[in-house]
Amino acid sequence: MSINNYDNSLNGVLKSENFDFSKNTTYGLGGFAKTAYFPKNSNELMSVFNHIKRRGDKLAVIGNGSDILASDKGFDGSVICTKSLKGITLTDNNTVICQAGATVSELLKFCTDNGLGGLEYLAGIPATLGGVVCMNAGAGGRYICGDVVKVDYFDGKNRSFSNKQCKFDYKYSIMRDIIGVISTVELKIEPKNREIVERDIKNVLSGRSWHPKGKSCGCVFMNPAGLSAGKIIDDCGLKGACIGGAVVSDIHANFILNRGGSSSDVKELIDRVKNTVLKNTGILLREEVVYIGDF
Ligand SMILES: Cc1cc2nc3c(=O)[nH]c(=O)nc-3n(C[C@H](O)[C@H](O)[C@H](O)COP(=O)(O)OP(=O)(O)OC[C@H]3O[C@@H](n4cnc5c(N)ncnc54)[C@H](O)[C@@H]3O)c2cc1C
Repeated sequence: MSINNYDNSLNGVLKSENFDFSKNTTYGLGGFAKTAYFPKNSNELMSVFNHIKRRGDKLAVIGNGSDILASDKGFDGSVICTKSLKGITLTDNNTVICQAGATVSELLKFCTDNGLGGLEYLAGIPATLGGVVCMNAGAGGRYICGDVVKVDYFDGKNRSFSNKQCKFDYKYSIMRDIIGVISTVELKIEPKNREIVERDIKNVLSGRSWHPKGKSCGCVFMNPAGLSAGKIIDDCGLKGACIGGAVVSDIHANFILNRGGSSSDVKELIDRVKNTVLKNTGILLREEVVYIGDF
């Protein structure tokens, strides 16, 4: 059971002992981390980060946990969970500044309420903006890198990355390679009729309605250049393959669903898919999903 309290040595930052990954990831899997911190603003984030570094602990950063497979054995370190870093503000320069823990659905509600468009393609991604920018998430051929103006980041020092400095690539940003935390992201938006924004969000959501339901991380593998990982896996006859409670979706072969399994089941199935695809096609699939802990 997790115990929540406020750490007085950190000016009252919310802290949880026994952070349960199975309750904080969309896979619904994984063991525990001894301690997790939930900073509410940039100052708390800096204090917590420095505290963890001073203790020499390993660090895992988690937003909404929608692209994470955490080990059944848990994580031998501290977690910073950004879910409490909330807030979205409109600037005079046709941009919005989002705290890292603001979710895509909160951002799109803000855009709808204020008649702002351009980010509708993100609809349905169950993520925080920190996670979206870190992973350069996107859909329908558009990625967040096309809309990022600036990212504020803390890695012991306050840094501000321009779009170019983020070094965005397919499912990649420089933030994936630095130990630190995105605190805010600034995104381009444009004035747009509110009803049209609403309609476009609905269209994006209905285009995703065929996606498999259930516990998953969305697509497990990145698409090899010019190819579809889902089609490759399907062509290898792997739809429906299962290990324990982990199953390759028979609707979209790049989804591996947790139907009452463990993280080891999912990891073993990922390895089986990779090995079979490599043997049959010579293609080495690379995971999009991020592992936390030892497997
Ligand atoms: C049903 C479903 C559908 C999905 N559909 C899509 C889709 O259409 N397109 C797509 O691109 N992805 C999709 N995903 C994957 C996932 O939602 C994205 O990768 C998303 O960007 C992850 O955001 P998150 O807040 O959940 O991050 P998490 O899963 O919590 O973290 C992912 C990575 O980002 C890092 N991170 C998170 N927040 C921060 C921060 N503030 N600072 C530094 N590092 C941070 C973590 O350390 C980790 O390495 C889907 C997932 C699911 C479950």
